[in-house]
Amino acid sequence: MDKKLQVEAIEQGTVIDHIPAGQGIKILRFLQLADTSKRITIGLNLPARNRQSKDLIKVADVIFSEEQANQLALFAPTATINVIENYAVVRKFQVTQPDRIHGVFRCPNSNCISHSEAVISQFYVRQTKPQQLKLKCHYCEKSFASSLFAELKG
Ligand SMILES: [Zn+2]
Repeated sequence: MDKKLQVEAIEQGTVIDHIPAGQGIKILRFLQLADTSKRITIGLNLPARNRQSKDLIKVADVIFSEEQANQLALFAPTATINVIENYAVVRKFQVTQPDRIHGVFRCPNSNCISHSEAVISQFYVRQTKPQQLKLKCHYCEKSFASSLFAELKG
């Protein structure tokens, strides 16, 4: 089946494909926290290879930088990014796990000094299990599961 038929086509923007089923909602929350004005279309539990299902997200009129795209690896390490121009894919790449995340999330530890000081949040990313990443805060040195960050305000 042609992937383009599964979710309405966009003229220009970014398609995040091959998101493991169930992770799409987390990425959606993450994207909305980052910028609520984006126009986003989401497809959940779409058919994928090997009889598994996948989620897919289209963000109109936004081209992700590689750094932005790699932040999505926290929730979907297997995701691929398709850059769309004039309804065609002009660039395609797989997300890679970032070593660090700057200025995106607030530290979940409410006692962390990063909340009271005017500093940019910084986390170090570590893989603890095949599908599980942890983020360690630069300031309080506490570690948190990456899934936790989808629930938080930026
Ligand atoms: Zn902290």
